[in-house]
Amino acid sequence: MSSNNWDVSDYENWTPEEFPVGMCALAGGKAVEYITGSWRSMRPLWDKDKCTNCLICWVNCPDSSIKLQDGQMVGIDLDHCKGCGVCVTECRFEALRLLPEHCDEVKCSEGPVLDEAAQPSTMNPEV
Ligand code: SF4
Ligand code: SF4
Repeated sequence: MSSNNWDVSDYENWTPEEFPVGMCALAGGKAVEYITGSWRSMRPLWDKDKCTNCLICWVNCPDSSIKLQDGQMVGIDLDHCKGCGVCVTECRFEALRLLPEHCDEVKCSEGPVLDEAAQPSTMNPEV
């Protein structure tokens, strides 16, 4: 199977070597080493002005991607956030919205702040 071929109709017969790198984190317990945010098609946008720091999003995020500093929410770890939208659903203060990954932030938002430092910068590292 070519690494660029996403025909998975016969995946049950693939050998472990045939699974493309990037479809799974190969080393158990080391997901933080993979830039899994690159799998995302939607991403949360955080409006820090509306945020009350209740941390409900932090409690519910299945990927531990809500970033805290000194007990305060400071942004979203977009290197690992999968864009599931759980945080958006759970936030009671409309401080989070879910946008298409490639949405123009200026046109899609009316002032919310993305943590620019948390933008995914690379695809999965070589393994
Ligand atoms: S759930 Fe909403 S208000 Fe609460 S910390 Fe998260 S973004 Fe802020
Ligand atoms: S979209 Fe999902 S993975 Fe990303 S920060 Fe929200 S709850 Fe976590």
